[in-house]
Amino acid sequence: MNNTINKKDRSWTEINFSNFEFNILQLKKYVSQDVQYMQIVKADAYGHGAVEISKKAIKCGASFLGVANVEEGKLLRYNNIEIPILILSPSFEDEIETIINNKLTPTISTIKFAEELNEFSKKRKVITKIHINFDTGMGRSGFYYKEAIKKYNQIKEFKHLKIEGIFSHFSSSENNSEFTNIQSNRFENILKNIEKLPKFIHISNSSGVVNFHNKYSNLVRIGLLSYGVYSDKMLEKKIQLKPVMTFKSKISQIKTAEIGDSIGYNRAFITNKKIKYAILPIGYADGYDFLLSNRGKVLINEKICDVIGKVSMDMIAVDITHLKDTKIAENVTLFGGENNEMRVENISSLFNGSSYELLCQIGRRAKRFYYEKEKNVSVSPLLRREFVSSDYPGDKINEIIKKSIEQRFPQKEISKMIYSNILKNYLNEIDQNIYYRKNFIHKIKFEKSLLPEFKDYYKVHTYLTFEKILENDCFFIACAKNEESLQKYFNRNDVEYRWLLDSNFNLKERVFSVENVKINNISLKHDQLVKDDCLEFKCSHSKLGKLIGQEVKFSIETVTYYPKSYHQLSVYITGFTQGASIQFEYEKLLDKVTSVPMFYEKNKNVEIINNKNSINVLIQKDQWILPNSAVIFVY
Ligand SMILES: *Cc1c(COP(=O)(O)O)cnc(C)c1O
Repeated sequence: MNNTINKKDRSWTEINFSNFEFNILQLKKYVSQDVQYMQIVKADAYGHGAVEISKKAIKCGASFLGVANVEEGKLLRYNNIEIPILILSPSFEDEIETIINNKLTPTISTIKFAEELNEFSKKRKVITKIHINFDTGMGRSGFYYKEAIKKYNQIKEFKHLKIEGIFSHFSSSENNSEFTNIQSNRFENILKNIEKLPKFIHISNSSGVVNFHNKYSNLVRIGLLSYGVYSDKMLEKKIQLKPVMTFKSKISQIKTAEIGDSIGYNRAFITNKKIKYAILPIGYADGYDFLLSNRGKVLINEKICDVIGKVSMDMIAVDITHLKDTKIAENVTLFGGENNEMRVENISSLFNGSSYELLCQIGRRAKRFYYEKEKNVSVSPLLRREFVSSDYPGDKINEIIKKSIEQRFPQKEISKMIYSNILKNYLNEIDQNIYYRKNFIHKIKFEKSLLPEFKDYYKVHTYLTFEKILENDCFFIACAKNEESLQKYFNRNDVEYRWLLDSNFNLKERVFSVENVKINNISLKHDQLVKDDCLEFKCSHSKLGKLIGQEVKFSIETVTYYPKSYHQLSVYITGFTQGASIQFEYEKLLDKVTSVPMFYEKNKNVEIINNKNSINVLIQKDQWILPNSAVIFVY
């Protein structure tokens, strides 16, 4: 594959999806049709990128994903992956909430954990699916096989847990058929003693799939082999696999050394002839193992070159004496690709290492480029502890912002709206619960003022009803003589109704009155308080305490006066609201009235109904309105 796109990178990995798919197809030949497949994507899919590999695996037919821990599972959910995810290792009790919130399937390896999980599930009123792990000889996590039935029967009693699967794990399926058979027999003995087997029974990892057949299993857990890496030489005869990952870098300097010169730290390599060598800008900090010092091999121009001297943190030297025409910036393969000698198995065997480990540690500073049939289909950025936005393409950034908001807000629709509209206004209030109004009906009626002192005003009768979850046992109705004073009430979420009064008003007179205020059918007390330029009405009732947390119907009815000379009346909607009807009635007092709806959302479906003496602005019941939307009536 050519890499014209990687000009900027010092090292990178290429992930070949076509080879991955090929490997899955080869592996599937070893299992019968009715056996399902779990793609193991722990440790960032063995360094191949868990999100990308999971998505590809789902396309290849995976019905489960296997991860090592809660965080890995959460990351997949964060990326919109929805199929079941099994956490293969034991989880901790303080991870239970995250497990349930993210619909992850935990593995049960202790009774204590099962107990806690059951308790939490009960509290949440959910049934949590679990898989139970039996240690049949791996000697790692899980219940020891001799205690399996006892433990199984204990777990069965937990009413809020559903045993969806039981499994075990081979210790040496790649090269020890004798012990694999012993483990398998122990597993079968457990199964025989279980009356009604759960839905999933699984024991084979990927080499188990090739080397071994277990008649009870209906799920296999495929890891290493799907990445095109043999766990044992013997497997080469049984199955053809193509490496999925290629690790690459490029030449950053070309030099020569005289006889007796030393290369790198501690003079670990001393030349015995004149050589030409290249410096590559990668080292153990990039995951290129220190133990490859004086042992590693790289591929330049289809020719194998030896690593000479110690691997440094950020550089290695390779002997290129035998190469013609090498140039700076020439691509170098560190492992993988089509040359068999460069397979990761062979490179890791140069230092008696594990190819699992080498794959996992690669790419700490490398981007991944995904290829499908030689074509680059996606890029994933460096794994960094901090979020670096310039590493992400625009659409990915959008997804991340959207997801971040979604995780903070309970209502999906609300989060969507915030995202697309007024994100910035709400960032500082993001930790509050959002209470929203439903069926917001606001009727404003202009009447003739009969009082001589208000002859330049219309008398205004307002009727407001809406439904909302009650937050407190009291709330306020507030009005103010100027916008500034009113503004502070906009920031208070215990104020349910606000009104702007004429600045000429004397607040000692009855310029604003609350006629009636109710929650459901309870009429509330409303004590008036004058505060500088403001009037506050505290609305309360001893019965409200019991209604906190419930959805209630608010009704608020007021009377006030409005200057004729204003020629416009603004009705604000200050909180999140679903469905609204705003009606302005003016008897025979006004001639031409128009309404100007001001909603943040573009293309908001607003219906305006003009009647003889009224105008009505309608938003459908299921439609959301953002805070600070308004309708202005102009007369
Ligand atoms: C890692 C793992 C696998 C996958 O093993 P491979 O040898 O990579 O196929 C399967 N099952 C469990 C429990 C594992 O931890």
